Amino acid sequence: DKMRPAGKKAFTIAVGNFKGGVAKTTTAMVLAQGLSLRGHRVLAIDTDPQGSLTTLHGLLPEAEITEDMTIAPLCDGSQSDIRYAIRSTYWEGLDLVAAAPFLFSAEFALPARQMRQPDAKFWDVLNMGLESVRDLYDVIVIDTPPSLSYVTINALWAANGIIVPVPPSGLDFASSAQFWSLLADLGGNLDAQSGDRAGKAFDFLHVLLSRVDPSDPATPAVRQWIQATYGEYTLPVEIPKTSVTSNKAAEFATVYDVQKYEGAAKTYKRAVDAYDSFVELVEQSVVSAWQDK
Ligand code: ADP
Ligand code: MG
Repeated sequence: DKMRPAGKKAFTIAVGNFKGGVAKTTTAMVLAQGLSLRGHRVLAIDTDPQGSLTTLHGLLPEAEITEDMTIAPLCDGSQSDIRYAIRSTYWEGLDLVAAAPFLFSAEFALPARQMRQPDAKFWDVLNMGLESVRDLYDVIVIDTPPSLSYVTINALWAANGIIVPVPPSGLDFASSAQFWSLLADLGGNLDAQSGDRAGKAFDFLHVLLSRVDPSDPATPAVRQWIQATYGEYTLPVEIPKTSVTSNKAAEFATVYDVQKYEGAAKTYKRAVDAYDSFVELVEQSVVSAWQDK
């Protein structure tokens, strides 16, 4: 059975990479939708002040999002349980905590709290805020900003598994390597500050080859580097660069919206098949983590 066993908590997945434009948000959205299509109750959390995941839900960050729909009050300490921020969405079975540009304030609020209360753990705020909803959902998917920020550290710390989308082009590969070494350091460094917490151990780290363009002459070489560097961490599926993905994003939609609301046309099949394989692999990782512990 692929459903969350009784007594198990929601599995939290963060999608991250310091580089922008590598398909983090697209990956987070299709993962949330795909897991929901497979019967899981999903909470999506947008932690990027750019609010792209919020936009993909058809909401305009600058016009429709207020503080109480975001993690901002969690970060400044006026709330401690994320339930206040959860909204249902147009997509049945998928709830959202939104983001908007004012969320940049969290980059000041989190360190300010740490100064006032030295025993506060600025990296543990989102993790603690999620505690009460881990019984209400099966999977929590967190989209992160393209930077090393206090919010990014909170997202990674709250996660049980990490997905790092990497398009096979030279520069993207280099900045992904920096992100990778942060993941390795994360537990150790935070642990040294608090002194009372075991290092962060993720149930999985998956590198996803995203926006793969076979007509780009650099693709085969960079794909090989990525596979040689990340070895078994590299998922055995690639997301092709397709016009349906980029065109639909302009309409605030994904290939799964096309499939669900317009019927999957033949031309979309390649994109839908790739995302289906990806979602299935992630679901397998989640299910085995539920069964392990
Ligand atoms: P990030 O969150 O890492 O900045 P996005 O998910 O916003 O990246 O993707 C950046 C751009 O690339 C968006 O315009 C998105 O629609 C487009 N994109 C993402 N994945 C694909 C794909 N497989 N094929 C074509 N375009 C894609
Ligand atoms: Mg993004």
